[in-house]
Amino acid sequence: MMDIWASWAKRKSKCRFCPEPVLPGTRIFRGKIWMKRQTGDEPTPRRFTIKYIWHFACYPREANMWLDAHPYESVSHKPGRRVVAKPELQEERVKLLKRHATLAHRQRSAALAGNVEKVVELEFKKQDLITQVAATGPVPTRWIPK
Ligand SMILES: [Zn+2]
Repeated sequence: MMDIWASWAKRKSKCRFCPEPVLPGTRIFRGKIWMKRQTGDEPTPRRFTIKYIWHFACYPREANMWLDAHPYESVSHKPGRRVVAKPELQEERVKLLKRHATLAHRQRSAALAGNVEKVVELEFKKQDLITQVAATGPVPTRWIPK
């Protein structure tokens, strides 16, 4: 179980999603996961929490990535007909989805800066990734140009 809430950064810290530092006084999302772990020689389970921080804009990106890695399954789907990511490729898939998110982010920055060459270059890289992602399971529908 993870709780996510919006907050202000109190001190400089690391974003879970991107390499940029999180600066004090900026808007962030905080996440907290409650964990329970028990080793053989412990009489009771040990409880602890893991905390995460994201830039305000980074959390939706990570969430989108997660949803892409775990595509929507209709509750009324016919058994045996669904297309899911192959479990052994899940890790590779998440890595590719993360790279795609980074490229998309850089492409938006390049577009804002009016750097058309960069936008085109990044578009090619994104297309390459689509092929690689397709090898691990369904390609997120958001990626397919209309
Ligand atoms: Zn970030």
